[in-house]
Amino acid sequence: MNTSEKQIVLATGNKAKCAEFNKMLQFTDIKVIPQSEFNVPSADETGTTFVENAIIKARNAAKYSGLPAIADDSGIEVDCLNGRPGVYSSRYSGLNATDEENLNKLIEEVSAYPECNRTARYWCVLVFMKNEMDPTPIICQRSWEGKIILEKRGTNGFGYDPSFLIPILGQTAAEISPELKNKLSHRGQAMKDMLEVLLKKYGV
Ligand code: IMP
Repeated sequence: MNTSEKQIVLATGNKAKCAEFNKMLQFTDIKVIPQSEFNVPSADETGTTFVENAIIKARNAAKYSGLPAIADDSGIEVDCLNGRPGVYSSRYSGLNATDEENLNKLIEEVSAYPECNRTARYWCVLVFMKNEMDPTPIICQRSWEGKIILEKRGTNGFGYDPSFLIPILGQTAAEISPELKNKLSHRGQAMKDMLEVLLKKYGV
């Protein structure tokens, strides 16, 4: 490890998310490391809000790694489904569901509604905790507006991206480049907010 490098554990086992974070942090000395490298056991996401789940995950990662931790809790809210899948986005079609199974279920459900009601948004809540007992976690929450389409387009990204149309671009989140996604997305925007706060408050 580079001694000037600031390490923050990321409370996820998702390599794609870790790569997205490190890409955004490439010009800083902050390095995000997946919690799997510290054998952090996964935490039960028992919250009914993104904020609750992000705090649960960040506290757990800080506790077992002994490092500051960032947790990301995210998901998609679809208007015609009364906000579902929401916090259940990663397990929408069952506990061990694949991205493809979740997306297929979403497309099928949404197809029962008129196109104008298929508006949706991704949400991302990022929580930074200095340590397990941090009483003032930093919370950044951002959304990204789109629309669910019934076909799948593009091969970039993950999760619901192939059917998440960005109306002003006429492209799905899986058709745009990772660089553009990082700029526009819920996670990119939340990370930008988080970076600003971290630089100001902690000098990292
Ligand atoms: P989490 O890991 O509990 O935060 O679950 C997030 C879930 O929301 C993922 O498994 C995806 O299903 C969905 N999701 C969140 N962000 C994105 C994104 O940028 N693209 C596609 N799907 C996403």
